[in-house]
Amino acid sequence: MIQHAVVIAGGGPTGLMLAGELALAGVDVAIVERRASQELVGSRAGGLSSRTIEVLDQRGIADRFLSEGQMAQVAGFAMTRLDISDFPTRHNYGLALWQNHIERILAGWVEEWPVTFYRGHEVTDFAQDDTGVELALSGNQSLRAAYLVGCDGGRSLIRKTAGIEFPGWDPTTSSLLAEVEMTGEPPLGIHRTAFGVHAFGREEYKIRDGGEIMFGDQGPIRVMVTEKHVGPATKPTLRDLSEALVAVCGTDYGIHSPTWISRFTDMSRQAATYRKGRVLLAGDAAHVHSPIGGQGLNTGVQDAVNLGWKLAQVVKGMSLESLLDTYHAERHPVAARVLRNTMAQVALQRPDDRTEALRGTISELLGMDEPRKRFAAMQSGLDIHYDLGEGHPLLGRRMPDLDLVTANGPLRVFTLLHKARPVLLNLDEPGGFDMTSWADRVQLINAKYAGAWELPALGAVTAPTAVLIRPDGYVAWVGDRTQLGLVDALTTWFGSPTLQ
Ligand SMILES: Cc1cc2nc3c(=O)[nH]c(=O)nc-3n(C[C@H](O)[C@H](O)[C@H](O)COP(=O)(O)OP(=O)(O)OC[C@H]3O[C@@H](n4cnc5c(N)ncnc54)[C@H](O)[C@@H]3O)c2cc1C
Repeated sequence: MIQHAVVIAGGGPTGLMLAGELALAGVDVAIVERRASQELVGSRAGGLSSRTIEVLDQRGIADRFLSEGQMAQVAGFAMTRLDISDFPTRHNYGLALWQNHIERILAGWVEEWPVTFYRGHEVTDFAQDDTGVELALSGNQSLRAAYLVGCDGGRSLIRKTAGIEFPGWDPTTSSLLAEVEMTGEPPLGIHRTAFGVHAFGREEYKIRDGGEIMFGDQGPIRVMVTEKHVGPATKPTLRDLSEALVAVCGTDYGIHSPTWISRFTDMSRQAATYRKGRVLLAGDAAHVHSPIGGQGLNTGVQDAVNLGWKLAQVVKGMSLESLLDTYHAERHPVAARVLRNTMAQVALQRPDDRTEALRGTISELLGMDEPRKRFAAMQSGLDIHYDLGEGHPLLGRRMPDLDLVTANGPLRVFTLLHKARPVLLNLDEPGGFDMTSWADRVQLINAKYAGAWELPALGAVTAPTAVLIRPDGYVAWVGDRTQLGLVDALTTWFGSPTLQ
């Protein structure tokens, strides 16, 4: 039977990112993907948040996405746009780029690594024992892996077969999304009626002045329309779309020749645990919610970046299996908050007059500087704070991409993370750290930094003399002229030097 250290079920954005992270760490990883090619029918996610762009920058691949998308102030809350151009990050914007392009670019990166792809195959069943997981694939094939990660989307077979509960809330609203031809001329743009929000646009568009969307006059029309009642789980038809449009607009604008029609809802559910033995969940397999605010794909990609290096260390015997529990501990609260904020945004979309008044009130609040900064930092993923205990505000937060000066010249912090290896950044006099025991796993970099220390929404923080940065770009330890707690942090996150 073919064996791999890790098998990932599902090669969507989450599975691709995880495969790249594991391969980068030298782990033998395979993806089993039902689709025969990376091609994606339907539009789905429309962009990347600031933090996801940073995460990609940490691997040196952000430019591949930036060169194909459009930078814009896309962060928002309940239709109120939140400008982050004054945020202390190199990427103080979001990126408008359809999911099919995001997946194509990610897949291109993964193909540069020795990742085995089983395309056109489906995981149909699995069973775990003390040493691994045995998987049954469509076509009577089987595989064995030390670990299985379910990145197989909201209807995850991996989650269900592992018996992991998926508690949450049933949908209260549904919308149809489609690409169609129309004989009539629909009003392009976003509209709000007594039924809710509907919109017409084209795939090809330009963003002017970082905000206004300008559509071309060629090509099929993309339609989004809220349905009068929550639609069934079955595949929507052209007739469903026509009826929904007539109910809202009084006409269906002569729709015909659909390329695709899909339905999304505000169902909000989250896996009770992200790990059961040798089986882990990430992305939509672990959490589903309304697409409002565009956080699904971003949360999944960031799940993968949190899990990748931890799983690699466990597979390589550098860390104990308990390190994997920090994946649930850190990422479950992040998605729980996404569920909460999408539910709040859905509630604010209700078309009645009182909700309209509430929306106006919230919008007014978000116009004030402090609430804008807080909500924008949340919606763009820049305020994520893993609970690593008391201490300096940097602890458990993203390391800023500082412009350092080293003996070999200028260097960006994110460049140090390209190979996904941890970094001990010494900003004090060189020579103070003895890292001999960890030399094979942690890079010690002596550098100077003269600029400001500022975090999104929090503002200025005291300059540390040293920081220990994890491969996912989060700060694991902060030094303030002493090395108190450093050995503990190194051992917790990167294993004891005696473990190999
Ligand atoms: C209408 C809509 C709009 C959205 N807008 C946004 C947005 O603006 N921003 C945003 O961030 N997110 C958005 N999302 C959410 C986003 O599309 C998802 O969060 C994202 O695709 C999740 O990625 P994933 O890799 O976890 O799962 P998926 O993309 O669902 O990928 C799962 C993969 O697993 C494969 N698979 C499934 N079962 C099996 C199996 N048994 N064996 C093998 N392979 C299997 C599937 O073929 C698929 O390729 C939107 C979603 C929808 C529906």
